[in-house]
Amino acid sequence: MLRTIYPGSFDPVTYGHLDIIERSCKIADELIVGVLNNNAKMPLFSVEERVKMLNEVTCHLPNVVIEPFDGLLVDFARQRKADCIIRGLRAITDFEYELQMAQTNHKLGAEIETVFLTTNIEYSYLSSTTVKEIAAFGGDITQFVPEAVRRELNEKMKTKRRV
Ligand code: ADP
Repeated sequence: MLRTIYPGSFDPVTYGHLDIIERSCKIADELIVGVLNNNAKMPLFSVEERVKMLNEVTCHLPNVVIEPFDGLLVDFARQRKADCIIRGLRAITDFEYELQMAQTNHKLGAEIETVFLTTNIEYSYLSSTTVKEIAAFGGDITQFVPEAVRRELNEKMKTKRRV
């Protein structure tokens, strides 16, 4: 039984994240998508909103569970008895940071391996930050995020414009 954790901010989940989730859950028996509850990162969506959107867009995947977490990733992984951590790699710019994180996590918990999945070329340019920027200026984000996320993001931007 292989239990894996795919951690991230998912603020909000994009087709790039979803692609990693769909591919990971073919390899793993159980995939826990860990949603980082870290207000220092000043997320646009609350952790509850991010968990809700992830639940909606992964409802077709029976071996995926969505869980919020805070604190150290290795502590969360140990607590959930996970065998490995999955991370997505888009470009060389991701690599430096991801390598450092993987090596640090290895020092903190040598029993938990980090596994990298390279991005689907179709989504290699895609990040939550870019999607939020486009949505903030009223651009069309249909090709970047699932419909449920598009609706929530446009709603959020409307509310922000009103305040
Ligand atoms: P972001 O960097 O967009 O804020 P997260 O912190 O939520 O995203 O990232 C969670 C994980 O998903 C990281 O390993 C990140 O490299 C990966 N990821 C993000 N966007 C993509 C994408 N378009 N394709 C593949 N992996 C991605």
